[in-house]
Amino acid sequence: MKSFALSQYRAPLECIETSTPVPEGNEVLLRVRACGVCHTDLHIWEGGYDLGGGKMMKMSDRGQKLPHTMGHEVVGEVVAIGHEALHLVEAGRTYLVYPWFGCGECQVCKSSDEHLCPTPRYLGVLRPGGYADHVLVPHPRYLVDIPALSPEQAAPYACSGLTAYSALKKLGPRGLRKPILIVGAGGLGLMCLSLLKAMGRSGAIIADIDPDKRRAALSAGAIAALDPTTDAFAKLLAERSEGGIHAIIDFVGSPASWDLSMATLAKGGTYVIVGLYGGERALSLATMPLRAITVSGSFVGSRRDLIELMGLVRTGVDPMPIVTRPLESAHETLSDLKEGRIVGRAVLVPGRPS
Ligand SMILES: [Zn+2]
Ligand SMILES: [Zn+2]
Repeated sequence: MKSFALSQYRAPLECIETSTPVPEGNEVLLRVRACGVCHTDLHIWEGGYDLGGGKMMKMSDRGQKLPHTMGHEVVGEVVAIGHEALHLVEAGRTYLVYPWFGCGECQVCKSSDEHLCPTPRYLGVLRPGGYADHVLVPHPRYLVDIPALSPEQAAPYACSGLTAYSALKKLGPRGLRKPILIVGAGGLGLMCLSLLKAMGRSGAIIADIDPDKRRAALSAGAIAALDPTTDAFAKLLAERSEGGIHAIIDFVGSPASWDLSMATLAKGGTYVIVGLYGGERALSLATMPLRAITVSGSFVGSRRDLIELMGLVRTGVDPMPIVTRPLESAHETLSDLKEGRIVGRAVLVPGRPS
């Protein structure tokens, strides 16, 4: 099999040929039909995350071994099945892979929150992923049925879609009764707008410094799209928010987006941080009880969330803009993503001519 692997952090991906794995036990081998290229892949390529204060969470300290094949948004067709999984999965069928594998043994995993397992084995992060023509999945429970969508449309739901859906769920039905504030109108922000619409909830006000992204947000159905750096921001937000902002989803996760959110959130409100831009901020402890606010982190989502999300997609979610590229252009695609040259979600398609 052929994979495009990271042999050295920050270096071009290399094409490597290895023997195609033969599934054992519960394992299932898929032929990759589509694999999304995510911002997380850029963090992996760079070797880790900025934790603030000059500290970095290194992928090597998390157990990542090089060469490593990235790619966690995978749709694939079942081509071989381990003997214990024969009755659980159908050969020739195409599935979306839930990529946030845990150990499968601990209480967290058993409660279907494998994405929060203390010893994760995430696909494309800690195990070989979908920048390849084949991928090995440890158990059929990770294979999720997809509605009538093309593989390239379905693939980004495993991370981008799931992350937006799970963040919305953290606001609860009460948090979604009134317009929410979404900070950052990149791919995740726009996905969140589409999901809110499909869920039949009152919409969202977008804050973004980029005028093109604000325009995209308005076309995707935002109630308003505001520039947080202007003097009029607070006044305009107050006018559109129907009595204050009680729920915020921050897809940036930077010191600036934290400042904006903390200055905006109403008493009793919930602030969900999803973005991994990084950095640090001091927190005035007394403000937490005095304002009775909840600050929550949200990381991808559970397998149950992904199955629910596919149910929502079945009822009709606006398709996200997709750019397809051949697998061979994996590195170029990653560079384009880094330089902000991709509009929509980039998806690698093995076997697609360049
Ligand atoms: Zn576990
Ligand atoms: Zn991702």
